[in-house]
Amino acid sequence: MKNALSILTVPAFDDNYLWIIHDGQHAAVVDPGDASPILEALAAHQLVLSAILLTHHHADHIGGVIPLLAHAAVPVFGPAKDQISSVSRPLHQDEQITVPGINLNLSVVEVPGHTLGHIAYFAPKQHWLFCGDTLFAGGCGRIFEGTPEQMLHSLDKLAALPDDTTIYCAHEYTMSNLKFAQEIEPSNPDLISRIEREQHKRNLGIPTVPSQMLLEKQTNPFLRSRNADVVQRLFAAGKISARQNEIENFAALREWKNHFR
Ligand SMILES: [Zn+2]
Repeated sequence: MKNALSILTVPAFDDNYLWIIHDGQHAAVVDPGDASPILEALAAHQLVLSAILLTHHHADHIGGVIPLLAHAAVPVFGPAKDQISSVSRPLHQDEQITVPGINLNLSVVEVPGHTLGHIAYFAPKQHWLFCGDTLFAGGCGRIFEGTPEQMLHSLDKLAALPDDTTIYCAHEYTMSNLKFAQEIEPSNPDLISRIEREQHKRNLGIPTVPSQMLLEKQTNPFLRSRNADVVQRLFAAGKISARQNEIENFAALREWKNHFR
């Protein structure tokens, strides 16, 4: 029977999360990197696949699309600029879609940086955000194709969403991200208490994802790269010279994280 929409967390590979949004009957899947855990979850919950939503072209996000289409010929929504051959509904900035089967309205946010075509999906009614590998709990994606300037502006777009937005990112990278955050802001009280809470979840084997936008703004260094303490830390660590602009500061922060262990 049809219910209000809810979301299933489907772990895949070492640390990916695939998301199933469903109403008790029909289901849309976000970034199905692998088909088999999706098919198992659909069967276990007696759900009929009605749509596939993709954020970007990396294999761990699209690898399950072809086998899922063999199982059910459903529309595939995805970024127009990321050139994914299985996409039947290419999307651009500010496009509004209604996901077939589950009647979910989503608006499209282009967030280049990790890939050039990367998009995120925001549900204006539920305040859900599906952001792939752009914003992570406590961190952000690597800049593989775009520039630091693009990534900073993409994160700014996401940070402008409501504080109570629930963030469904695609990986369990949280503890490693927060270890870096602690290096940047060791005395941030929100960060200290977050690390305790998230470590407790990991000890119990519970996902730390989804997270919330307000918490990200309080603790995620990549949403705080203009914060005076963060800039001061970059300077003190010799990552920037005294006078640099916000893009160079953000780039230095991302570069530091790339090498941080
Ligand atoms: Zn990726």
